[in-house]
Amino acid sequence: AKQAGPGTIRFFETSDDESARERRALLRDLELAVDRDELFLLYQPFFDIRKNRVTGFEALLRWRHPVRGVISPTEFIPIAEETGLIHGIGEWVVRRACSTLSNWPSDLRVAVNFSAAQFHNASILQTIVQALSQARVAPHRLEIEITESMLISKYAPASSILNSLLQLGVTVALDDFGTGYSSLTYLLKLPYTRIKIDQSFIRDMLRRPDSAAIVKSIIALTRDLQIGVVAEGVETAEQLDYLRQTNCDEVQGYLVGRPVAADHVFALLDQNKQW
Ligand code: C2E
Ligand code: CA
Ligand code: CA
Ligand code: CA
Repeated sequence: AKQAGPGTIRFFETSDDESARERRALLRDLELAVDRDELFLLYQPFFDIRKNRVTGFEALLRWRHPVRGVISPTEFIPIAEETGLIHGIGEWVVRRACSTLSNWPSDLRVAVNFSAAQFHNASILQTIVQALSQARVAPHRLEIEITESMLISKYAPASSILNSLLQLGVTVALDDFGTGYSSLTYLLKLPYTRIKIDQSFIRDMLRRPDSAAIVKSIIALTRDLQIGVVAEGVETAEQLDYLRQTNCDEVQGYLVGRPVAADHVFALLDQNKQW
């Protein structure tokens, strides 16, 4: 780029400045987002293949920006993580998810996504306990989702915190499983409740034998460990059929339900669709 002439260099500098400025502006707005009530949660169902019914919902965060419209968590969660804003945002998420859960039938659970950094704040446990007691929901109805790659990051959640949560009755799912390159030793360290097979394997499994083999062996592993298994990103009836044959417990994905606003949850339950 250096030989490309002054105009080009200035172009790149300008665009870098612009994206840095845009990021700073977004950060400023994000600092105010909780107080301004701009964050909201969508809920995506878990569908139990054998029971043929919805067993709960995963809470997925969105930001309704006053100018830019709805922003995806993949865009603002990294900024929140880098700046520490994730702690306040994460607290809001767990409180809101628990209070929404308190309106649902008692056989449903809610799953909440956590960032690695959140486990390095001593008050996380207290926040979760308070959210549960304020909403008066039983701890076993709350599931914490942590990604497999978190286990081997420098922010690996302290097993003491995860153990305390498990002792409370809160359940813990390993998200994006199969993408984190962690050894099975990590997996066996704690009594996780559930594994969520990453959607990349589900997307490919009907045309790639290696993906199908991974899906089947993850399911076999969960059978041996006597824990639950969810297939993420199920979009077609063919994928669901295959997962039914391979004895998967639950599925999630656009086929059985897209993420919906809290006030659509009851309509979705009433539909009682069979797959
Ligand atoms: P994730 O936890 O792996 O969530 C699954 C993502 O896949 C969601 O994207 C969901 O909308 C999308 N998805 C669900 N079914 C399908 C399908 O059938 N096909 C396809 N192509 N996609 C599907 P979303 O809502 O944009 O969330 C992206 C990521 O942001 C999440 O990935 C999670 O890592 C993170 N995230 C979301 N909410 C929170 C939160 O409250 N806290 C934290 N720390 N992270 C969050
Ligand atoms: Ca998740
Ligand atoms: Ca996932
Ligand atoms: Ca993911």
